[in-house]
Amino acid sequence: MVSINSNCIGCGTCAAIAPTIFKVEGIPAEVIKEPATAEEQTLTQQAIEMCPVQAISDTPAKMAA
Ligand code: SF4
Repeated sequence: MVSINSNCIGCGTCAAIAPTIFKVEGIPAEVIKEPATAEEQTLTQQAIEMCPVQAISDTPAKMAA
């Protein structure tokens, strides 16, 4: 699950990289939807790496045991 923490400064980088995943209208930015395709996964990873304050995290959904 992709989430954004309170470190976000609203710079807009994540939405510029992955506009289908992130929306920056306020602070913190919002996750519009979870990445569904391989391309969206890649863009999400790029956004995580490019975020200047490491505010984005992606925790793989746990399967029910
Ligand atoms: S790249 Fe990081 S700091 Fe910038 S808007 Fe996105 S979550 Fe916030």
